[in-house]
Amino acid sequence: MIENRYKKGPREECGVFGIYAPGRDVARLTFFGLYALQHRGQASAGIATSDGRMAYTHKGMGLVTQVFNEDNLSPLQGHLAVGHTRYSTTGASHVRNAQPYLIETIHGPLGVAHNGNLTNALTLRQTLLERGVGLSSTTDSEVITQMLAAPAGIWTNGNSSHAIDSEPDRWVARIRAFIQMAEGAYSLTILTRNAIYAARDPLGLRPLCLGKFPDGGYVVTSESCALLTIGAEYLREVNPGEIARLDQYGIASFVGQESTKKALCIFEYVYFARPDSTLEGQVIHTVRQQMGRQLAAESPVEADIVVGVPDSATPAAIGYSMKSGIPYTEGVTKNRYIGRTFIEPDDKLRQIGINLKYNPLTANLQDKRVVLVDDSIVRGNTIGPLVELLREGGAAEVHVRVSSPPVRHPCFMGVDMATHRQLIAHQLDTEGIRQRIDADSLAYLSLPGMVNAIQEALDGKSGHCTACFSGDYPISIPEWLFDENREKLIFEEMWG
Ligand code: 5GP
Ligand code: MG
Repeated sequence: MIENRYKKGPREECGVFGIYAPGRDVARLTFFGLYALQHRGQASAGIATSDGRMAYTHKGMGLVTQVFNEDNLSPLQGHLAVGHTRYSTTGASHVRNAQPYLIETIHGPLGVAHNGNLTNALTLRQTLLERGVGLSSTTDSEVITQMLAAPAGIWTNGNSSHAIDSEPDRWVARIRAFIQMAEGAYSLTILTRNAIYAARDPLGLRPLCLGKFPDGGYVVTSESCALLTIGAEYLREVNPGEIARLDQYGIASFVGQESTKKALCIFEYVYFARPDSTLEGQVIHTVRQQMGRQLAAESPVEADIVVGVPDSATPAAIGYSMKSGIPYTEGVTKNRYIGRTFIEPDDKLRQIGINLKYNPLTANLQDKRVVLVDDSIVRGNTIGPLVELLREGGAAEVHVRVSSPPVRHPCFMGVDMATHRQLIAHQLDTEGIRQRIDADSLAYLSLPGMVNAIQEALDGKSGHCTACFSGDYPISIPEWLFDENREKLIFEEMWG
């Protein structure tokens, strides 16, 4: 629910998927695609399909494999589909907020899967409610769906007689009209009767890319790792501000809004994206290794072994080892079968989660001076207990190195860090954090160091959103969103 999103932080770092592939089992391929995007969200999953006549959907709470089985996959008929995996930080995530949204419109079914966060969702929602549109959930994603269901222009003019679908492709017109009104982050996959549409906000805040099967059929996905999984090849990214249509004629491209500046979320490189995915032409694993090298150059330390926090910090730890010459080894084992949904509901449970999740590899740690590399410190819940764990496991010294800068600023564009007070680096300086986590030393990668590591292969051709590290927001953020007590002041009363 939206009040929970803003209490504990926006919910999304979701995964979206879309496929147009006549003659194939698109529901099953979407299932496998979502399976590859599972890391982007574990709270709920869903698929909607169309056979050109009817639309079908199934969604539920939990992991992709918990939601789907033979019985509920096989009724999802058709040759086109969209799918979604949803991230949620709160225990109170509801199935009514699960995606994709599927509704019936005058032009047939409309299904929407959304990754991102609209910063003007409240205003858009108010507009819908004032015009008599009822909503069944409290997500910005349902707002998007309802906006697309009406002819382009209706929301801006408030007069349906002006609201005609002027373009040959009414869905392109509607998506474009939505883009004109929307602010914030959105990567969308949209199901209609005969075509899949993909759209990305003009800043390109969240990733989205296109692929195709060698023998026909097209795919759109948050990350390229899902293409490999289903045997499709990578074509290109959906450009910021672009609308793409996938149908029997291939992939058609339309300008939704001219993109003047690119601001891909830099946290995709730090943590979100899977290491085998490609972003902006670079393999994530390689970039993370480069960040680790840079970290070693900036903050060397005398030590015997380099250990990464599995799994996401492994590439950075390898990079640190390569640059420093200190051998890389495993120092903790991670139990990979602990669902994130189980450990996430509140901070106390997160703490217990650490002990369930990691065990020290005593044989490797005994009397060793350890460099412990993690990819990020956000709330500070992970690293403190891990330092303690390594000491219990026999480590003589634990030097923490973080392959991103301190997270000091909230994110309103789709990442789970929406208030200052939940961010440990907003409360404490680096020495304060070092004491809190009881490390022998602590150092973060510098912001220029991180940007260089990422942009090295890009020749400065790209721009990134670094707001959580720099406070430099690529869009103007409404003042009230910075109000730390806003959930009490606004959402509980208004949306309760
Ligand atoms: P912290 O425990 O400081 O709040 O979060 C940092 C740790 O969690 C790091 O080990 C990092 O790999 C991981 N992490 C960073 N961002 C996120 C996120 O948005 N969701 C989840 N589940 N883990 C995250
Ligand atoms: Mg981690």
